[in-house]
Amino acid sequence: MPRRVVIRADGAARGNPGPASAGAVIIDADADRDAARRPDAPPLATVSDYLGRTTNNVAEYTAVVRALEVAARLGAREVELILDSNLVVEQLAGRWRVKDAKLAPLHAEALARLRALDAWSARQEPRARNHAADALANAAIDRAHAGGPASVVRMPGDAGEGGAAIRGGEGAAAQPGRAARAEGPGPGAGLWGAAPALEEGFDPADPGPDPGELTVTILGSGTSGGVPRIACDCPTCTSADPRDRRTRSSALLAFGERRVLIDAGPDLRAQAIREGLDHLDAVLLTHEHADAIGGLDDLRRFNELRGGYLDVRAYAESLAVVVGRFGYAFTPGQSRFAGIPMLRPVELGGPFLIGGRRFVPVPVVHGDRVIAGYRTGGFAYCSDVQRIDPDGRILLRGLDTLVVSALRDIPHPTHQTVDEALALIADLRPRRAFLTHLDHDLTHTSIERRLPAGVSVAWDGLRITGAG
Ligand SMILES: [Zn+2]
Ligand SMILES: [Zn+2]
Repeated sequence: MPRRVVIRADGAARGNPGPASAGAVIIDADADRDAARRPDAPPLATVSDYLGRTTNNVAEYTAVVRALEVAARLGAREVELILDSNLVVEQLAGRWRVKDAKLAPLHAEALARLRALDAWSARQEPRARNHAADALANAAIDRAHAGGPASVVRMPGDAGEGGAAIRGGEGAAAQPGRAARAEGPGPGAGLWGAAPALEEGFDPADPGPDPGELTVTILGSGTSGGVPRIACDCPTCTSADPRDRRTRSSALLAFGERRVLIDAGPDLRAQAIREGLDHLDAVLLTHEHADAIGGLDDLRRFNELRGGYLDVRAYAESLAVVVGRFGYAFTPGQSRFAGIPMLRPVELGGPFLIGGRRFVPVPVVHGDRVIAGYRTGGFAYCSDVQRIDPDGRILLRGLDTLVVSALRDIPHPTHQTVDEALALIADLRPRRAFLTHLDHDLTHTSIERRLPAGVSVAWDGLRITGAG
């Protein structure tokens, strides 16, 4: 991996604001610095991102930030930025003030990334010489309008983190369950693109190059209405057992310094305070029902704490609904002082990396919908399960720990019962399993009494260590 790179980055907007995009080439400059500075130098990695409707300057800055992200992933320590935006060059150098509130967070993120390097420089060259980045930017707008993927990031030998893997560009490992759905633009395809094709030899148990040790905290173990339910005096809702107080289902995954949230329900704020959660690196959504996303607005605190955007990953169909409902939180270039979340929508395709840990989306049937479960190494979290078809089950073999939803004993049109969950567990045979997303029909102890060895009832605050 290169120590020194040249980055050519460019933003495009057709109208100001208008449909906009970011493009960048990252060129290895270790061997020959002058050759790397040539406009036609072959790139090591490229970025081509559609950004939706925004201004040209937001697009210019986003291109810089995205290219610096990729350079960091490549391990670069010295960066030479070549841009055709004089404004960005002058503002990064500190010679011009940043007056546009939309640019402030992008400027801050770019500077933070640059200052983390051993050395950097930024200079302006005319657009004609920045043709490679300009072409990648314009290709993104054309691609998005033609229904292709929003983001295509090409890395050397890539099957890991990045738009290509996440949003279904080339070179991405995929999953059998989604491959069948990739034919034709299904609901929610279009802007975010379809799922990638199946890669042979893909191992769902691969925990990634640097997975760290995983600890899972059950933030919430309750169904959509929570337990106790409002105005209910049933035995569970009036139980003195603290494990019968079930906030809306959610889990926190910790590995190394990374913190990944699965679902952001309406109890998120209280859960985060209860667990002393002081930062987040990414958010994974199972789906767009209110009990999984009702707390998205509270993520703004984690934007403040990290000083930048948070990626929110979900399947395309869910993401489209979430972005529609929380549009204000998914607008590129928001000021971090505006008191609103700064979220970047990332469509699930195949496996992706967060830090050095690999995550695999697992197709789960929830009523008439396919939603996302998540596997990482030997651990999997599947909530709102009505059933899991063979395409999902093959991704859940050989698990150490499975957290899976079980609503109650009475059949429900979109959720499996406790007995159905036990049958699923018996088929998947993880070393141990925990039931979550529970309603108020059953107390903790009444369920636990009937469970086979290796299966337990989850409860709010439960910590699962050594989960894979
Ligand atoms: Zn009740
Ligand atoms: Zn649901």
